[in-house]
Amino acid sequence: MLAPSLLVDAVWEVDLDALRGEGIIGLILDLDNTLVDWNETYVRPEVRRWLCAAHGRGMRTALVSNAVRGRRVKAVAGELGLTPVTLACKPLPAAFRRAMRVMGTDASSTCAIGDQVFTDMLGANWMGLKTVLVRPLSQRESPHTRLIRLVEGPMRRRWARSRRAMSPRMSAKV
Ligand SMILES: [Mg+2]
Repeated sequence: MLAPSLLVDAVWEVDLDALRGEGIIGLILDLDNTLVDWNETYVRPEVRRWLCAAHGRGMRTALVSNAVRGRRVKAVAGELGLTPVTLACKPLPAAFRRAMRVMGTDASSTCAIGDQVFTDMLGANWMGLKTVLVRPLSQRESPHTRLIRLVEGPMRRRWARSRRAMSPRMSAKV
């Protein structure tokens, strides 16, 4: 329920053609420390290029964030052409459902990408979605998240170790 389908270093390393090949047409994207640094609005060129590539492949994208400042979520979503789902209360399933409804996708055609195990991964795995766990973009985060990282860290390392054993190309850093 917690383990992601895939581990990658950053969102722009997610192979869009591979996802399309698996029938994924909708992406549920986390905001903080997945697309932008925590509590920021600056979007790195790599993220922009990757999102353009997703849209170029006809993929639908929803920005699903627990952030309390809905205006920031909507601003980033508007700038990047994502459908915003604010005050998501991940890992609760309602926001994932809402995102799939607006994208017109279902569990088999949607992939969730985020940097947190107990919100992004847990909620999406619950819904039966494909899940991709990225490394947080920055070290800055809320005190609450920093505490959760203490539990998350050993799990990430364990997953990385076991996946490296299966696939030597997998990055050591998670
Ligand atoms: Mg996040």
